[in-house]
Amino acid sequence: MIDLRSDTVTRPSDAMRESARDATVGDDVYQEDPTVNELERRAAERLGMEAALFVPSGTMGNQVAARTHTERGQEILLERNSHIYRWELAGLAQHGALQTRPLDGTDRGVLTPETVHDGVVSADGHRPGTGLLALENTHNAAGGTAVAPDAIDATAQAAHDHGVPVHLDGARLGNAAVAQDVSLSRMTREVDSVMLCLSKGLGAPVGSVLAGSEAFIERARRVRKLLGGGLRQAGIVAAPGLRALDNVDRLAADHENARLLAESLSELPGLSVQEPETNIVLVETERTATAFLDRCSDVGVGGVAFDDHLVRFTIHWDVDRDDIETAVDRIATVC
Ligand SMILES: *Cc1c(COP(=O)(O)O)cnc(C)c1O
Repeated sequence: MIDLRSDTVTRPSDAMRESARDATVGDDVYQEDPTVNELERRAAERLGMEAALFVPSGTMGNQVAARTHTERGQEILLERNSHIYRWELAGLAQHGALQTRPLDGTDRGVLTPETVHDGVVSADGHRPGTGLLALENTHNAAGGTAVAPDAIDATAQAAHDHGVPVHLDGARLGNAAVAQDVSLSRMTREVDSVMLCLSKGLGAPVGSVLAGSEAFIERARRVRKLLGGGLRQAGIVAAPGLRALDNVDRLAADHENARLLAESLSELPGLSVQEPETNIVLVETERTATAFLDRCSDVGVGGVAFDDHLVRFTIHWDVDRDDIETAVDRIATVC
């Protein structure tokens, strides 16, 4: 099976497995795991932040961030199709006692400064007050769109003008940075916190990092513990995460393969393909997405349904150019 369901399906490399075996470890709840400490230090540096925190998943990173930035009963502004709003089990309501105010983004999933300006409410005797703005880059539901650093800066600035902090869901921030040939830290210049997944295109088996100011991370560490995310000899999983941080530049190969897949699929009957900006390819199908994917699965290609007629294929480092060509040949028989 050529598994294009997600970039989370990658298996750790031999180097990652060896690094896990050989990792120097300690109890990370006491902050005594040298490998975790090293990962947090290097992640903070790469992301242009003072400090970072290793978390078991991207979802936990986002939820810890939201909870750390806000007080219960406040509102959080986010894009209508953002991961935090749609795919995190209403965690903002369950963990943070937050009210969500979804805003309409552009068709690339970008929130404009004007939209944010209009969405902010100040606290008074009737209104809860806006506690946080959350942005996403790359934007998953819009098709892995790489939002420009200037656009992130401007929208974050609009929130700051109202005294509202900004969290960036950068699950695939490496893809956004590589696609635009800028550093990770350039992507986070105006935001107050950022979450990056090590376990997607970067290839680690487990884990994400949350980064921000030293004071923010100190408070976030308590929230992580509260949610059950305080791990002990976590260097075993942080060591592959350190290797994953070095894989950012490698993402360019995934983007090239995504373009190849999109160009080839666009020549097949019954499919309409969105031009990819990173490693995600969105395909509109004439028949229903589930019917199309069932046939794909029969011929050994995996994807996921995003909507009634919308399918997502995601490129990652366990598929190469040959696999893409094979996948296209197989999908052609389905069409
Ligand atoms: C995958 C993803 C997450 C959550 O990460 P998990 O490690 O799967 O919990 C958050 N945001 C976006 C945009 C994602 O794609």
